[in-house]
Amino acid sequence: MGKPVVIWSPAYEVDIGPHVFPTAKYRLVRDRLLSDGVLDPGDLVEAEPVTDATLLLVHTPEYLEKIRENRFTAMERIMLEMPFSSALANASRICCGGTLAAARAALRDGVAVHIGGGFHHAFPGHGEGFCLLNDLAVAAAALLEAGAVHRVLVVDLDVHQGNGTASVFAEDPRVFTMSVHQERNYPDHKPPSDLDIGLADRAGDAEYLAALHAHLPDIVARFRPDVAIYVAGADPYREDQLGGLALTFEGLRQRDAYVLETLLDHGVGVAVTLAGGYAIREGDTVTIHATTVAEALRATLRPC
Ligand SMILES: [Zn+2]
Repeated sequence: MGKPVVIWSPAYEVDIGPHVFPTAKYRLVRDRLLSDGVLDPGDLVEAEPVTDATLLLVHTPEYLEKIRENRFTAMERIMLEMPFSSALANASRICCGGTLAAARAALRDGVAVHIGGGFHHAFPGHGEGFCLLNDLAVAAAALLEAGAVHRVLVVDLDVHQGNGTASVFAEDPRVFTMSVHQERNYPDHKPPSDLDIGLADRAGDAEYLAALHAHLPDIVARFRPDVAIYVAGADPYREDQLGGLALTFEGLRQRDAYVLETLLDHGVGVAVTLAGGYAIREGDTVTIHATTVAEALRATLRPC
């Protein structure tokens, strides 16, 4: 197996003014990986935007029109919790392309990384919680539509429940959504995933990893996905401003290694996306994401 594809885009660094979401993190993660020698510049592939036809596999035509015309209600703007701009729309569309490209590459190579993605709070007809378009759902739907896969597993390990993705695939047996999150956190209303594991406030490394060990191998064995999309949120970190779990750097690294190993041991390719991360020190978020990428690059597809 060659070196996994690593996808990114400079477009993700959208100017959203003073905001808890650090849009510079994508560039900073890339720079950290380059300066640490984990990546060479030639390893990076730039993401390309998806077409409307691809977005329409998940999102409604009315919603895409609202995005195109910047025509949202006051409530919709409040729910997005992020200032809308054409740059944000452009970044979101490219981001869907990045996760789709990573999923395609994972099918081929075993592992692929998107230094971006994980916008799991976006629904077909509205955005919320910093998520305009659901790159995970678009990527899964596009692979299914193309007949490239029959079953997709979404392993969502952001600290917040993956409400948008759960909702998109609620009635679709071809996609298994698994979410491990902090129960008493956003979103208030959690449409059921195929498996939701809501952890108690301040749950730490041991409880978190025990939950994964208890469920992930069983799901992979029973569902037999053709590919997995891993939503590797950095926000279960103990010093996250929007998270209330208590994972350490080492716990998060072990989480990443375990997810990759479990899937690859079953012969399932993994597309890694980064998702949320709002550490008090921006550098901590960058460290967690960069470690996830390094773990993915270390992992290899083993014969099953
Ligand atoms: Zn989150």
